[in-house]
Amino acid sequence: MTTLAADLPQPQESPINAPMLAAWRDEGALALQRCEACERTVFYPRPMCPHCHAMRLVWTRASGTGRIVSYSRIHRGLPPVFRADAPIVLAEIALAEGSLMIARVITSGEVHAGMAVRLVSPRDALRYPLPTFEPA
Ligand SMILES: [Zn+2]
Repeated sequence: MTTLAADLPQPQESPINAPMLAAWRDEGALALQRCEACERTVFYPRPMCPHCHAMRLVWTRASGTGRIVSYSRIHRGLPPVFRADAPIVLAEIALAEGSLMIARVITSGEVHAGMAVRLVSPRDALRYPLPTFEPA
C-alpha cells in the first residue's frame, strides 16, 4: 500500500506558514523566510525576524540540503497511521542556509550527527505532508 500525504495527519495551515506548505505540496520544494534587514534565514515561519526583530521577511527557495545535528529513531508510541513505517527517524537538521529545522529522514540505514541529507524527490514528496529528507 502506498501512503499519500492526504492519508496522514495534516499540518495546521495559517497565513504565516501557507507559502511554505504550498511550496512543499505543489513542488516538493523547501521555502524559507529570509530577513531583508539582517539577511539571515528563518525557520519556522513567523511574522517577525527572530534575529533582529525586523518585520521584513520575504520567501526564498532553499537548496533542500543540510546536515543532521541530532536525531531520534522512533520505534514505539507512534500514531497508528505511522506504525507500518516504524522505526521512523526525526532529526534536527542544520540547513545549508543556516536555519535549523526538525524533519523526518527517510532511511532504514545508518544515521549519524553530521550526516548530509537532502529533500526527497518531488515525486516522493507527495507521500509526506511536511518537508521530508533522505540521506544525500
Ligand atoms: Zn533580521
